[in-house]
This record gives sequence, structure tokens and C-alpha cells, in this order.
Amino acid sequence: MKSRTPSNHVDVAAWAETGRTRAGETPLHELARLARSVRVAPKEPVVTWRLTGEWRATADGVRRPALALEADVVLPLACQRCLGKVDVPIHVDRHLIFAPDETQAAALDADADDDVLALVPQIDLQKLVEDELILALPMIPRHVSCPEAPVSQVQSDGFAAAAEDRRRPFDILAHLKKTGRSA
Ligand SMILES: [Zn+2]
Repeated sequence: MKSRTPSNHVDVAAWAETGRTRAGETPLHELARLARSVRVAPKEPVVTWRLTGEWRATADGVRRPALALEADVVLPLACQRCLGKVDVPIHVDRHLIFAPDETQAAALDADADDDVLALVPQIDLQKLVEDELILALPMIPRHVSCPEAPVSQVQSDGFAAAAEDRRRPFDILAHLKKTGRSA
């Protein structure tokens, strides 16, 4: 079955029982929180997604209703080296397991590679897809090789450079405040 937006609310236990699948394509502007982290691009990105009901065991060995989620989109992000647009493919392949209530979900989630959520009567699929895509965004999007000269020179790759990149906006802000210039 194909649908444009996965916003229909569903009964996960019934999906798990029948192995039901729903797949579709959602234009980025319908995922407002995700769209906020993205640069303007000539062509709007489209998220392709697939959700499949399944039974999956949590760390305590109990098989519970779950959803297998796959989603793909190429997002135009701001390169943190040259500030130009970098197209970053985002791929999500996750299993979302549902526990009977919030307390059990929190306890099981701590021990799990999968996400464990509280089973509510109705699940907002669009929110699930958007949440997982946001979690999959790179901390520091960058070109492999920047098309233009970088704004700042980063001498080495790896953790030191990444840490330096994270600090830099605050250094610049502090400097602007000290010198009384406005950005
Ligand atoms: Zn770049």
C-alpha cells in the first residue's frame, strides 16, 4: 500500500500480528521540525519511508509488538567548514519496540539497541519517522572536499578538529561581544 503521508494513527499490536507494511513518500515541508535544519534547495527533498509490523524481543526476552522503520532522504545541510550547501544522504533502519507503559519502556530502553516506547492506543507514524530522521542527522555536516576555500583552516581531521568546530561559533560570539561589533 502506498500513501503520501504516514500520519494515520495505527494499532501496532494488530500490525505486528499481520506483518502489515505501509510505505510512501513525504515532501520535507510536511515534517516541519526536520525542515528547520535544512537549507533552501532548488528542489524540495522527499522522504521515502517504510513501516512494517513485527514481533521483537526486548532485553528481558519478552517478544513485544514492534515497528521496523526504514527511511531515506537526501538533505541539503550547511557544511560546517565552508558554510556552503552539502547534500547529505540520511538513512534510517531502526526497530521501535512497544512496552505496556512509560515506566517499563524507560527501563527496557536503557538496555536496548532498539528504541523502546510506551504503547499508546494510537501511534503517530509521521512523528516516529520524523523523530528518527532528526536523530540520524550528522552532528557536523561537511563536504568530503569543500568546493570553495574554507572559512577557517582546520589542520587535522578527527576528534580534535570536531571539538574545535563545535567551539568556534561561541569563540566568535565572545569576540564580537568583547569588541562591541554586531554580527
Ligand atoms: Zn564545505
